[in-house]
Amino acid sequence: MAAGDIAPDSADNSADRTVVQRSDRHQVVVIGSGFGGLFGTKALRKADVDVTMVAKTSHHLFQPLLYQVATGILSEGEIAPPTREILATQKNAQVLLGEVTDVDLEQRTVTSHVLGRELVTPYDSLIVAAGAGQSYFGNDHFAEFAPGMKSIDDALELRGRIFGAFEMAELGASRGENVDHLLTFVVVGAGPTGVEMAGQIAELAHRTLTRDFRAISTRQARVILVDAAPQVLPPFGAKLGRWTEEKLEKLGVEVKTGALVSDVDERGLVVKYKDGSSERIEAVAKVWAAGVQANPLGKQLAEQTGAPLDRAGRIAVNPDLTLPGYPEVFVVGDMISLDNLPGVAQVAIQGAKYAAKEIDGRLKGKPAQGPFKYFDKGSMAIISRFRAVAMVGKLRITGVLAWLMWLVVHLFYLTGFKNRVTAVLRWAVSFIGTGRSERTSTEQQIFARVALQRLARGTKELVSEPGEFEERRRAELEARAAEEARLSDENKRGVKTG
Ligand SMILES: Cc1cc2nc3c(=O)[nH]c(=O)nc-3n(C[C@H](O)[C@H](O)[C@H](O)COP(=O)(O)OP(=O)(O)OC[C@H]3O[C@@H](n4cnc5c(N)ncnc54)[C@H](O)[C@@H]3O)c2cc1C
Repeated sequence: MAAGDIAPDSADNSADRTVVQRSDRHQVVVIGSGFGGLFGTKALRKADVDVTMVAKTSHHLFQPLLYQVATGILSEGEIAPPTREILATQKNAQVLLGEVTDVDLEQRTVTSHVLGRELVTPYDSLIVAAGAGQSYFGNDHFAEFAPGMKSIDDALELRGRIFGAFEMAELGASRGENVDHLLTFVVVGAGPTGVEMAGQIAELAHRTLTRDFRAISTRQARVILVDAAPQVLPPFGAKLGRWTEEKLEKLGVEVKTGALVSDVDERGLVVKYKDGSSERIEAVAKVWAAGVQANPLGKQLAEQTGAPLDRAGRIAVNPDLTLPGYPEVFVVGDMISLDNLPGVAQVAIQGAKYAAKEIDGRLKGKPAQGPFKYFDKGSMAIISRFRAVAMVGKLRITGVLAWLMWLVVHLFYLTGFKNRVTAVLRWAVSFIGTGRSERTSTEQQIFARVALQRLARGTKELVSEPGEFEERRRAELEARAAEEARLSDENKRGVKTG
């Protein structure tokens, strides 16, 4: 049996539990196929190890461009190529689909699940790069009405909700109804994602869709960006924040700062201002881009190691990114709390490369590298076509130059040559022209998430248990085949039986 092969667990004997067979080589398990997971795996390509990446999606997601999928600029395939394809030529790497539910630091195993199948993967070294999810600050019920922006599902749902709102407004207006609530779009959270999203919805309404409808004028649409903070883009400083706010307002975005969202429902949301006043905004399409919560695996690791968690659920790691008492376990990216490092792609990429180098170095008997040092390459946010802000070291850049920098950096980091080519074409369609290449959306995209949540056993309710299908269906299929054969053999086809 080759390394990484999967075999039924003889000790357990249960049909749906399998154990990944290990080879004699050092086994590295990587949890997650995001920035940390993918770059960590790739950095181990020349090491004398077997790498098993366990991730709950089969793609690598370029999260910074999710808003462009949501607003019809790019397709999901362009920002989420299959991890298997990216790693196809890396012979020491294997990709396994599954959501990791348990990490046993004593037994050195990772347990994952997919559709009722359980997989146990042993490791010698572990890189945990499971990222972060959306935080609703204790109000998880808001999620039903205001999806976050963390996954392809989120982006496609939002695409459906945004374009769907215009469709419903057209229908309502043609019947003479008030459709203001359908033509009001609210983005919660004025960080880079919220700013980018609000800017793009405004461009859609005021530029792309203006000729497509008959009963409504999309130019009348309101796009509102709300945040409890006193300025937009707080990490970019006051000056760039003010510049961004001005440009957003020029685009037709209403910016409401100091506005805390206190309630969200199907039809709208309530914001409370610092002076104690509150306002209800009627808006069917809402986007939540306000907060992040580290992956719950962090809590599990904290319980086993005693390492503290911060308010966002990020785990405190040693300066070399390992867990206290477990030098073979590295945690990287959005899950860690170390020296106030930001939750950005470069922290995950550099951390994962550092961990991979450390694992390789240990096997070669090299001395430890010393503490992980993050090199800040700068931050940027796009506001609309030809307008962006960027911070590189002490430099503060705005306008077209920042936008061009954004373009080059995103093209460079977008995975795969074919994705870069098609992304450039689609950007030309949207930024030079007025079109959007990816406006397709369906009812399923809008409602599937909530519908699945309402199934008691989730997706498991929609598939048979392992083995169940064969047992139940084999007899049925055999009986049907026997009946078909009998009808033919006895020449009874076309003969009236009743
Ligand atoms: C909308 C948006 C825009 C952003 N824009 C920027 C930007 O412009 N610039 C920037 O630098 N950063 C940006 N970021 C932040 C950046 O994307 C993250 O910091 C980065 O992705 C973190 O990398 P990571 O590897 O820690 O986590 P991720 O990239 O999130 O990867 C986590 C991986 O773990 C998998 N996973 C999660 N739970 C499990 C589990 N239990 N079992 C198995 N697999 C699991 C996920 O499927 C995923 O593959 C943005 C983030 C978002 C959401």
